Amino acid sequence: MVKSQQEGSISTAFFDVLIVGGGMVGAAFACSLGDTPLRIGIIDANKPPQGPIEMEGSNFDSRVSALTLASRHLLDNIGAWSFISSLRHSPFERMSVWDAEGSGQIEFNASELGQVALGYIIENSVILTGLYQRLAQLENITIIAPSLIDGMTIDEGGSRCLRLTDGTEMKASLVIGADGAQSKVRELVGIGLKEKDYHQRAIVTTVKTELGHEATAWQRFLPSGPLAFLPLRTCQNDDHFCSIVWSVDESEAASLLAMDEMTFAAELGAAFEHKLGAIEAVANRQAFPLRQRHAKTYIQNGLALIGDAAHTIHPLAGQGVNLGLLDAAVLAEEILRALKRELPINDMSLLSRYQRRRVTNNLVMMEAMSLFKKLFGIRHPGVRWLRNNGMTLVNRFAPVKNHLAAQAMGLVGYLPTLSRYKSGIKEGHSNKI
Ligand SMILES: Cc1cc2nc3c(=O)[nH]c(=O)nc-3n(C[C@H](O)[C@H](O)[C@H](O)COP(=O)(O)OP(=O)(O)OC[C@H]3O[C@@H](n4cnc5c(N)ncnc54)[C@H](O)[C@@H]3O)c2cc1C
Repeated sequence: MVKSQQEGSISTAFFDVLIVGGGMVGAAFACSLGDTPLRIGIIDANKPPQGPIEMEGSNFDSRVSALTLASRHLLDNIGAWSFISSLRHSPFERMSVWDAEGSGQIEFNASELGQVALGYIIENSVILTGLYQRLAQLENITIIAPSLIDGMTIDEGGSRCLRLTDGTEMKASLVIGADGAQSKVRELVGIGLKEKDYHQRAIVTTVKTELGHEATAWQRFLPSGPLAFLPLRTCQNDDHFCSIVWSVDESEAASLLAMDEMTFAAELGAAFEHKLGAIEAVANRQAFPLRQRHAKTYIQNGLALIGDAAHTIHPLAGQGVNLGLLDAAVLAEEILRALKRELPINDMSLLSRYQRRRVTNNLVMMEAMSLFKKLFGIRHPGVRWLRNNGMTLVNRFAPVKNHLAAQAMGLVGYLPTLSRYKSGIKEGHSNKI
């Protein structure tokens, strides 16, 4: 805890930037502002990860993220990638997407695109541990955890005053709400949400498969929702493990969760057309409700929302944290530019530029995911025929296919500097395909 003692009483600590929520997005944002003159605090409800974690065997975290190349570049540019990659990461070189109701199929291959990998499957706990190892090197950053915020006001000078549940008060020129989908910051400042409930759950777990995954991310679109097998590799290079994300209606989720391991393995294998042979083992299953959310504004005086606090998206293309990391990179870029020009970091025009640069991009991705979800749920024979033929055509037509691949790798559009490839990064990737 940061508490500056004055004659026995606790005085209010002052920060330039207070980040509420030190998850993947909040921690990456803090690293982006490391080694600057800014005094930065990160408040998180949980204790930060402690040091490097033991990576022996196949004890994978059930929560993983498919990171785009843009996200990998960001993690590299902020000094966290070397920690993450030294723990455990699984690059994937191919992606195979097919329709459960027909013959439509699209295959992407990194080598055809001049890339080393299409992306990386990494356990969330590994990403977070790597980020906190980097944070530990940065002297201008203070971690205030475990702590929960309880209240927020704004003073006459425009500073935000935060109160923690233990009564501690802190002030900051700029408060960042990076506290996830149920953001307390968003609630405290009264920012509303546009929400869509998919009435679905994503079942996640790790499975061991009979056949190796061939460094391929597999996705089968079933009428009820997509089923993804994301390739994991142990430190001993065993490629028989996958993280699965299976989106199904709420009632189906309940029955899948209630099944014993063998019955679940058989159901899963059948839903995946036994592409990797039998499912030999299944770890603990978890289920997450699927909702699309979009904050009505990302900014207020002296305040900005980033990551899931600003938006959540259907996980079918694994874009949630990637969008959040782009929010972090854009906001950091705007702040670093203001610092260079000796302008205030909480200026409303700076925050408005951040919002303008991110809202459209986030909304387009969210709507595209909703459309995909809807399209693959339609069982009408005519739509099915169009969908399957469309996939086959795209698979044969390189320019369209390459554009889709670039989108999935996060390389489309105007990227913030921090998310671009810089020469010197190992396992080189180009920015464009
Ligand atoms: C099943 C599933 C699969 C997914 N797969 C992918 C994928 O493959 N690729 C991808 O890009 N995205 C994926 N996502 C989305 C991704 O997990 C989220 O977008 C990401 O975790 C958001 O990160 P965040 O840091 O914004 O929020 P969070 O990870 O939710 O972190 C918020 C942090 O804030 C802290 N906090 C919360 N409240 C308070 C408070 N009051 N005071 C202090 N601290 C607080 C929490 O402790 C936490 O550390 C998936 C999501 C789901 C559900």
